[in-house]
Amino acid sequence: MVVRTGNSERLFERAKQIFPGGVNSPVRAFRSVGGVPRFIERGAGAILTDADGNEYIDYVLSWGALALGHAHEGVVAAIKLQAERGTSYGAPTKLETELAELISAAMPTVEKMRLVSSGTEAVMSAARVARAATGRSLIVKFDGCYHGHADGFLVSAGSGVATLALPDSPGVNPGSIADTVSVPYNSVERVTEIFSERGDSIAAVIVEPVAGNMGLVVPSPEFIDSLRELTTRYGALLVFDEVMTGFRVALGGAQSLQGVRPDLTCLGKIIGGGLPAAAYGGRKDLMDMVAPEGPVYQAGTLSGNPLAMAAGIATLRELVVPGTHQAMHESSVRLAAGLRAAASACGITVQASALGGMWGFFFSESPVTDYAAAKLSDSGMFNDFFHGCLANGVYLPPSPFEACFVSTAHVEDVLHATVEKFGRVFEDIALRRDAASGCC
Ligand code: PLP
Repeated sequence: MVVRTGNSERLFERAKQIFPGGVNSPVRAFRSVGGVPRFIERGAGAILTDADGNEYIDYVLSWGALALGHAHEGVVAAIKLQAERGTSYGAPTKLETELAELISAAMPTVEKMRLVSSGTEAVMSAARVARAATGRSLIVKFDGCYHGHADGFLVSAGSGVATLALPDSPGVNPGSIADTVSVPYNSVERVTEIFSERGDSIAAVIVEPVAGNMGLVVPSPEFIDSLRELTTRYGALLVFDEVMTGFRVALGGAQSLQGVRPDLTCLGKIIGGGLPAAAYGGRKDLMDMVAPEGPVYQAGTLSGNPLAMAAGIATLRELVVPGTHQAMHESSVRLAAGLRAAASACGITVQASALGGMWGFFFSESPVTDYAAAKLSDSGMFNDFFHGCLANGVYLPPSPFEACFVSTAHVEDVLHATVEKFGRVFEDIALRRDAASGCC
């Protein structure tokens, strides 16, 4: 299939003159899959349209931020209404409290919170609270979990360069990560070892309670339970980074499915309804340490921005309708099963999984439970599949180490069309593979 990309190519060339790599966030540049990133002109529901007029069923959804699809009527109306009243005041509004109350009602462990503008800020600030509350410095994280790009978290951070005990990026001082320890995801043994060796210095364990930044990896219940048990036993805090999973895997996030009460939770993406908003919150006694109530300083010019609040409130009001997450879960399950069946019909093995509005896959012979296994998956097959999907009008994340998403706009005919396209893509890959091997 020949797809026109001339306009995206020209726009990319122009963007490269002014932005590093032509983009404002690295994965958008398609570096790991090659080819031209599509420049998007508009989105409506489940569909993206690029600068050449090509349409795609979107499974990136602004990296999970859009739970209702693109340009949802209610969200657009709320943004318009608020824009006419002003876009930012730098003073408190009722909207902030409304959004926070919706969050806290869905996620009762978030008794009190602070609104910020990005997931990076939320995690960075939660770590500050954890260190202040415990008087300790060490943060334990897990390989392949991404917690934003603050210096202290750029260690084995998902799709970044994985170099244990070394920063994943030049410019991060070794000193900045001296207080970060990264251990394998899902390993009760390793995390227990770290606590027995350094338990008295550990301020917090931070975890993606369902990992989405090494591809989708659902943890074992024992792993998550062990984190709660060990942190409690050693007087450390448990921080759930639900920037991606909050309001996505379930209304109450992964913690509601796992029945675990973290001390602090970080949120982002969906709570801003497609505009920049994030939050960190949790136990009231911990959040009361934040300025001006307490001594832990943290502030933001656009924190609680009324446009983002309006979009977030409109989004959460739709999501609280009973059955919404179950419907998204069924869509994700349908895609994972359809992908598996289409691959298997062509003799290709894929590990596909789904949870709530998240789904993902690895071209791997056995189930993937940690970052080491994710990195062993077949990246060549991923690239072929990614480009085949793109050419057939399915927009997947351009990296094997990212999760896919669905929205409420991914209705039956959209899912059906997607699974059909998966079939076509795998058939094509199998034909080319047979031709290359001289078979048939
Ligand atoms: N935490 C998790 C789990 C994420 O997936 C992300 C971003 O993808 C972040 C933190 C950082 O959020 P942001 O990109 O809004 O800074």
